[in-house]
Amino acid sequence: MRRWFYRCPQCGAEYKIEPGRYLCDHCAPRNRPGIPLQGVLECVWEGDSVWQGDNKAELPLPIEREYFPKIPVGDTPLWAPERLRASLGFPKLFLKDDTCNPSGSYKDRASWLVAAFARKFGLDEVALASTGNAASSMACIGAASGLKVTVFLPKTAPIAKRIQVLQYGATLKEVDGTYDVAFDQSIAYSQETGVLSRNTAYNPLTIEGKKTSSFEIANEIGCPDNIFVPTGDGVILAGVIKGFEDLLKLGRIEKLPRFWVAQAEGSSAIVRALRTGVFEPRPSNTVADSISVDVPRNGSFVLAKLQRYDAQGVTASDAEILAAQRMLSSQSGLFAEPSSACAFACFLKVRDRIPHDESIVVMLTGSGLKDIKGAQAALGLDTKINV
Ligand SMILES: *Cc1c(COP(=O)(O)O)cnc(C)c1O
Repeated sequence: MRRWFYRCPQCGAEYKIEPGRYLCDHCAPRNRPGIPLQGVLECVWEGDSVWQGDNKAELPLPIEREYFPKIPVGDTPLWAPERLRASLGFPKLFLKDDTCNPSGSYKDRASWLVAAFARKFGLDEVALASTGNAASSMACIGAASGLKVTVFLPKTAPIAKRIQVLQYGATLKEVDGTYDVAFDQSIAYSQETGVLSRNTAYNPLTIEGKKTSSFEIANEIGCPDNIFVPTGDGVILAGVIKGFEDLLKLGRIEKLPRFWVAQAEGSSAIVRALRTGVFEPRPSNTVADSISVDVPRNGSFVLAKLQRYDAQGVTASDAEILAAQRMLSSQSGLFAEPSSACAFACFLKVRDRIPHDESIVVMLTGSGLKDIKGAQAALGLDTKINV
């Protein structure tokens, strides 16, 4: 038996996992515009720490299996890209291909757990703000689960992601403003209506749901020496770290990987904070749309973990991202969106610092077909055509 609860990493307060609970009551009053969310809660479990084998049902999650919608989220392939391995001289390079989740991105892992939570507690609607992928993901998983989904999306979100939202039958509220404006509008909507919020970091299950890839990786190759994670708000990163922490607690691995935080040069708040210890808001500008974030929502939460584990920060320019995207596609066959390609670009930048016999996992989080503008321009095609 396991006991599950939320704990605030900032003050240690504990809460029940139940509808209506998002941030820590003691720390949330410190929230104000321009800083990462305060009082983001962590899912914690106590009790049975005996691992029962490779059975997926043993993966510790706070919602019982029976509530998960029957849609194939996760269990994504770990590629062994032979041509890249040979050309770069890293025989243990792996690509974790989360582009093949149902909606084409890593976000499905979080939406899946949030949908299970909604079904357990009999909630029939989920609302969220997004830059694109979280919205298309929740719309997709919501369609499979019979949940109504309302999304707040900036008008500038890539067209493919907007079409996904509508195609899956969700309600699209287009926001004339940035993701921050969409975030505030979606919270106001949830507070007025009592609808479950899937806002990233704000709902602690979004972090917990994103830990499952670590279990899949460990099942296949044990603990990798290095893992590169493309990072915007820092929720995927926090989820991946949580997964390896759980694996350690379960005695499945003996050490943690070296965590590499991959960000775009034009949106690098977490990497900068890793160097200086503080968050300074700076307007972001990058081709890597899904990791373009002025103030990382999960910044405070994840920075504490990054400092504890001596994580490394790397950034790549837009030119480096697009070149890496092309190299990845043409030498492995995997076409990932620019945010994901940023993780590969960051690996290319620091590879001289990594011994060649070490294992490396590059987390590829979104399909290239979701956001083609960057690739279109980099290929020299007229970007006015067919978009
Ligand atoms: C959301 C997203 C990321 C970044 O995740 P964060 O939790 O915001 O750091 C990376 N890649 C893709 C494709 C995404 O959709």
